[in-house]
Amino acid sequence: MLNIVGVASEPLARERLQGLRNCRTLPAQLRSEGAKSEMTYVVAEPCVNCRYTDCALVCPVEAFHLDDDMLVIHPETCIDCDACVPECPVEAIFAEDKVPAEWTHFTQVNADRALSGLPTITARLDPLCE
Ligand code: SF4
Ligand code: SF4
Repeated sequence: MLNIVGVASEPLARERLQGLRNCRTLPAQLRSEGAKSEMTYVVAEPCVNCRYTDCALVCPVEAFHLDDDMLVIHPETCIDCDACVPECPVEAIFAEDKVPAEWTHFTQVNADRALSGLPTITARLDPLCE
């Protein structure tokens, strides 16, 4: 069976962080740290029972985790780069401070689920919706 869920190896993670440090389009602070800002991005309601997974393909730090009905973003891995937002066909991803009021509880949903040990995802899956 095709292995579609990947866990980043340490050398791969180091290589990607080095790539981030070299990236001229990222803010200087993120380049110098190679990672983490204080904010995170959040997957909200439109992803539930849809889960196209396009977002996971572009994340430079493998912050997406796979759950049965949606993807979630690990708040400690996300570096706030914004790359995933335009990739989502149903506009389910928001910066933490821009999550619509009716979906703000998804910030905690993302954190709880990602921290529960769900596998990371870096490849495309068939979507759950049409
Ligand atoms: S692209 Fe959008 S709908 Fe698809 S998994 Fe990512 S957040 Fe969910
Ligand atoms: S904003 Fe999106 S693409 Fe960028 S690190 Fe966070 S989850 Fe990954």
